[in-house]
Amino acid sequence: MTAQRIDGKQLADELICKVRDRISARIAAGKRAPGLAVVLLGDDPASAVYVNSKRKRCEEAGVVSFSYDLPASTSQAELLTLIDELNANPDVDGILVQLPLPEHLDSDLVIDHINPHKDVDGFHPYNFGRLAQRRPLLRPCTPRGIMTLLESTGVELAGLDAVVIGASNIVGRPMALELLMARCTVTICHSKTKDLAGKVAAADIVVAGVGIPNFVKGEWVKSGAIVIDVGINRLDTGKLVGDVEFDTANKQAGWITPVPGGVGPMTVATLLENTLDAAEQRESDAIQP
Ligand code: NAP
Repeated sequence: MTAQRIDGKQLADELICKVRDRISARIAAGKRAPGLAVVLLGDDPASAVYVNSKRKRCEEAGVVSFSYDLPASTSQAELLTLIDELNANPDVDGILVQLPLPEHLDSDLVIDHINPHKDVDGFHPYNFGRLAQRRPLLRPCTPRGIMTLLESTGVELAGLDAVVIGASNIVGRPMALELLMARCTVTICHSKTKDLAGKVAAADIVVAGVGIPNFVKGEWVKSGAIVIDVGINRLDTGKLVGDVEFDTANKQAGWITPVPGGVGPMTVATLLENTLDAAEQRESDAIQP
């Protein structure tokens, strides 16, 4: 027996179609298309690949993309001034500053500076706090996308035991809050966690976001579990692999995401969903503009 594949590419395509239909309906109703400002500093090749894929998907979904490609030498003051302008620009609904930033810049300060109602990455403490309080507005893209992947299985999530490996602000922590909101019982693991194998073996859902190739061994996985692999690791051979030992986990799990073609495409599609949501939230009474 092998696990059922959760096809993130196909589900992302479906989500983009839904976003495009909602945008078409807005335009038919005389409203404007949502706008996403994508800010890229420097010439890190991986960041450039991510940003290009975000801009391409914007076009497919009908989101207007505003590009700001700045030199790595951009100062903190210059970046904050740009964010002030984007915060004030009524055509911009979402602001994304591609991380990691060059070392001389303080990413916390930059994130804090973004208007939380345009924070389509969901990294601002306001949005993080809303998620922690079970009344989310803009939810971090990767964990929100993973919830869409989990829901696609049709498995009832409430009451399941979930283990999240990795406790970063962008993956592990918000992932744990999403799963808690879905009424899972959540264990968060990090580099000091004891008996990781035992914790994974007891889990109905495993989400791995560590950044170490093949870190989660297939033999740890409980029979029938749902395995979500967030990791994106490039081997010396050039091959892209996740954090989960796929071939062995595939024999144990009930459901599994591949790398590539799992969480990655869903993260980008969710960014566009967030941008549309941000436009609609700012138009509604739910928040102060
Ligand atoms: P990160 O900030 O480096 O966090 C890694 C986490 O893994 C930390 O919490 C760390 O623990 C934990 N960890 C490290 N070694 C461990 C060990 N031996 N046992 C258990 N936990 C351990 O990384 P990130 O930004 O969250 O990204 C994680 C991975 O996801 C990377 O491969 C990244 O490329 C990928 N990613 C993918 C997407 C996507 O859309 N698919 C989006 C974002 C990230 P401590 O807290 O104790 O240090």
